[in-house]
Amino acid sequence: MSNFDYDLFVIGAGSGGVRAARIAAGHGARVAIAEEHRVGGTCVIRGCVPKKLLVYGAHFAEDLSDARQFGWDVKETKFDWVVLRDNVLAEVARLEGIYGETLANHKVEVFKERAVLTGPQSVKLASGREITAKTILIATGGWPVRPEFEGSEHGITSNDVFHLETLPKRVVIAGGGYIANEFAGIFHGFGAHVTIVNRGDQILRGYDEQIRDRLLQISMTKGIEFRFNAPFEKITKNEDGTLHVEMKGCDAIDADIVLFATGRAPNVTGLGLDVAGVALNDKGAINVDDDNKSSVDSIYAVGDVTDRIQLTPVAIREGQAFADTVFGGKPTRVDYTNVPSAVFSHPPLAGVGLTEAQAKNKLGTIRTYTSDFRAMKNVLAGRNERALYKMIVDAATDVVVGLHMIGPDAPEILQAAAVAVKAKLTKADFDATVALHPSMAEELVLLK
Ligand code: NDP
Repeated sequence: MSNFDYDLFVIGAGSGGVRAARIAAGHGARVAIAEEHRVGGTCVIRGCVPKKLLVYGAHFAEDLSDARQFGWDVKETKFDWVVLRDNVLAEVARLEGIYGETLANHKVEVFKERAVLTGPQSVKLASGREITAKTILIATGGWPVRPEFEGSEHGITSNDVFHLETLPKRVVIAGGGYIANEFAGIFHGFGAHVTIVNRGDQILRGYDEQIRDRLLQISMTKGIEFRFNAPFEKITKNEDGTLHVEMKGCDAIDADIVLFATGRAPNVTGLGLDVAGVALNDKGAINVDDDNKSSVDSIYAVGDVTDRIQLTPVAIREGQAFADTVFGGKPTRVDYTNVPSAVFSHPPLAGVGLTEAQAKNKLGTIRTYTSDFRAMKNVLAGRNERALYKMIVDAATDVVVGLHMIGPDAPEILQAAAVAVKAKLTKADFDATVALHPSMAEELVLLK
C-alpha cells in the first residue's frame, strides 16, 4: 500500500480527465477527480453537445421551408427559443449525470470543488482538505478569450450563449473561426441578423482555401454579413440596453448581443503550477512530452490545457494514452497525423489531411480533384447552394493525402472517408470502390 491518499488525482472532469480517471481506475489505480464547475467539461456542458443540438434546431428553418417543395403543407412556423434552450439544457444535465455515474461505477471519487497544486504530489481542495497522490493529471481544459478593449465586458462568450433569456434579433460575432461560423449559422437559422466581425481578412484559418471561400459565399448569400480587417474599438450600451459596436475601418453596428469567439486559452490561472514547478510553453500551455508528462515527473497534462489540438476526441485519446501508459503497462502515444475536423456551420464543412496549399509546399507535385455539385435535395427544394468536395493526391505515390468538403452531412461523410486517408489508400483504391447511388458521398469515388 502506498503512502499516498490516491495513486492518481485528476484536476478537471472534462473529456480528457474523465477518460483518464476511468481507464486508470480500470487498471486498478485508486483514483480521485476534482471538478469546480460541472462534470462533463466544455464539450458536454458548454460546447460540442449543446452546440450541435442548436445546429439541429436551426436547420429546421431551412427544412421547414424546403418541405413545401416536397409537397408538405407547412403553415406559418414560429420558433420558440426558450423551449429549445430548456430542452438542450435538460439533455446536458442528463449527460452530466451519466458522466457522474460512469465515474462512480469505476470507483473514482469525485470532489465537486476546485483543486490547486501545493507540490509535485499534493493538492488542496477549496474546502481546505489536503490530498496527496503519487501521480497528478491536469486536465483543466481551456477558457474563451475575451479581447480587452473599452466596453468589451458587455460582450458574452460561448459559455453564456446557451443560457440567453431571449433570442437576440441582431447578433455581432467577433472572430472568424469555428465558434463564429457555427453560431452565425445557428442565430441566422433562428431568424436573427448576424454580422461576423473579423480582425483579419479570412475565416477559418487552416482549412482549405476553396472550402472556406465556399462557406463565405454561401453565408453571404443567406444574408450573414461580414466585416473584415475590422478590429474592435469600443462597445457602449445604448439607453435601451442594446449595444453600440465601434470598429476600425467600418461603420458602427447596433446589436442585441456581441459574442466573442476569439479563441480559447489554456486554463492555468491560479492552479499552483509555479508552486509545483510545472513549466508552461510560449503559448501559456502546460509543456508536455510525447507521453503527456510535464516538467515535473509526477505531473502529467492532457487536453486543451496543453494546447496541442483543441478537439475533444484528441483530449480523450490523450487521456486514454496517459492511463494505459502510466497505469496499464501499455505504453501508448497519440498519433496526431490525419486528425479529421469539422465546422458545424450551415452548411457544415469537414477536412482531413493536407490542404492543397500545404500539400504543394510539402510534396511539390500533387494532383487535385474536385466535385462541385448541387445536392439533389437542394435541387428539388430550389435551394441554390452548391457542395464542394476536394481530394488532394500525392502525384508520386497516388496516395490520397487530403480530403476536404463542404455540403450537407459533410462531417458524417468525412469521418468514414478519413479512415481511407489514415490508411494511406490511393486514388486508385477510391476509384475501385463502386459508388453507392444516389448519395452525395459517391462523389468521392467518381472524382475525375
Ligand atoms: P478559433 O481559433 O477557431 O478562431 C478564433 C478567431 O478569433 C480567429 O478568426 C482569430 O483571428 C480571431 N481572434 C483571435 N484573437 C483575437 C483578438 N484578440 N481579437 C479579435 N479577433 C481575434 O477559435 P474559436 O474561439 O472559434 O474556437 C476555439 C477552439 O475550440 C477552436 O480552435 C477549436 O479547436 C475548438 N472548437 C472546435 C469545434 C469543432 O470541432 N467543431 C467547435 C468549436 C470550437 P485570426 O485568424 O486572425 O487569428
